[in-house]
Amino acid sequence: RLYNENIELKGNIRVFCRCRPLNQAEVGNGCASVVEFDASHDNELQILSTDSSKKHFKFDHVFKPEDSQETVFAQTKPIVTSVLDGYNVCIFAYGQTGTGKTFTMEGTPENRGVNYRTLEELFRSSESRSRLMKFELSVSMLEVYNEKIRDLLVDNSNHPPKKLEVKQSAEGTQEVPGLVEAQVFNTDEVWDLLKRGYSVRSVGSTAANEQSSRSHCLLRVTVKGENLINGQKTRSHLWLVDLAGSERVGKVETEGERLKESQFINKSLSALGDVIAALASKTSHIPYRNSKLTHMLQNSLGGDCKTLMFVQISPSSADQGETLCSLNFASRVR
Ligand code: ADP
Ligand code: MG
Repeated sequence: RLYNENIELKGNIRVFCRCRPLNQAEVGNGCASVVEFDASHDNELQILSTDSSKKHFKFDHVFKPEDSQETVFAQTKPIVTSVLDGYNVCIFAYGQTGTGKTFTMEGTPENRGVNYRTLEELFRSSESRSRLMKFELSVSMLEVYNEKIRDLLVDNSNHPPKKLEVKQSAEGTQEVPGLVEAQVFNTDEVWDLLKRGYSVRSVGSTAANEQSSRSHCLLRVTVKGENLINGQKTRSHLWLVDLAGSERVGKVETEGERLKESQFINKSLSALGDVIAALASKTSHIPYRNSKLTHMLQNSLGGDCKTLMFVQISPSSADQGETLCSLNFASRVR
């Protein structure tokens, strides 16, 4: 409902902001919340600055710390289900490490996130349309780290990881040849696959959390539809992306592997920002080729594709600088 209402006004790009709760450690350290919500507008927020001035931001929706995964998904649902109508869709979680990107997308076993709920909803919706349409759903999971693509549904432990590249098909679409595409028939299978992918992501390195904050994790749902009346076939993609942490490079990380990582992260996140900003401003040249991430997502960004960005923020006074950076980034793409 929210989505369609604004479609002509703002095109196909949505930005939702989600603020996590202040955590125990922050409360213990005497950090206060610098984020204020508007009681009568659920799409606005203010950040208190150090000089006690307030900066005001407006998005398509603002989720408060107490908003549940259900509440978040209720707003997301119309966007994800449009993949059944043949649209390509991209959903991103953007923000500083520790602000809830993984919580929003992946969630926890007790508190499942957008990824699982999306598949659950796609099964439900496709079932309810089964007299008109036949749908086939399949799932791929991959990680982009230092501009390299890794398949998370392949067991890489016994042999060197297969190198994956983005290639243009004869039809002119961007594909990743060799990527595992696992067909799924029910939510139990989906949960098993997601768990497998998430665990490959985190055991792939010695410092698991370190690396996961520095890589992009992508879940791709491929929907093949067949109209049972006229036989027309469609194939569309829904991408659910947990981006690398957006925090700026620390002063200590001026050389070696860390610097390389940071440069790659900055490159792909700014490339993504450039692409979305170009789409929002309706410029004719869209710079997709500047990173693996945007190149791979080319067919699902722009045109009549639907894009949703979750900007994740921390309420803590200690994170105020990064929070302002994230909100400014998000304002630029909207
Ligand atoms: P990121 O992926 O951005 O680094 P995480 O998703 O790992 O951040 O979140 C950091 C911590 O905060 C986790 O322990 C997570 O469970 C918790 N958290 C994040 N968002 C919320 C929320 N909206 N409600 C409750 N806990 C949250
Ligand atoms: Mg994370």
